[in-house]
Amino acid sequence: MELCCHCGHRRATRPRQLCWRCYGTRRVRMLYALTKPRGRRRARPATHPTDALPGSLEKILVLMRRAELRQDLWHPDDAPFGGRPPLEQAG
Ligand SMILES: [Zn+2]
Repeated sequence: MELCCHCGHRRATRPRQLCWRCYGTRRVRMLYALTKPRGRRRARPATHPTDALPGSLEKILVLMRRAELRQDLWHPDDAPFGGRPPLEQAG
């Protein structure tokens, strides 16, 4: 059981290793920096675009692979709904 790093008497059950009472006091809370990063970690950008069409099994497999690699699920150059226009495919 970790004790509150401010008062040292009560269990530290709140962020910043503080107890409920100390955490509830803004002046005390501001004295202690956060020990863990808040919120979700930012994923890395997806490395390669895919020609797999949205909603296809192939696209779902690509999304699963990107999730495993902790990459963004979407790449700006992924194939759009309905596939790429003919001119874009030629280039
Ligand atoms: Zn406390």
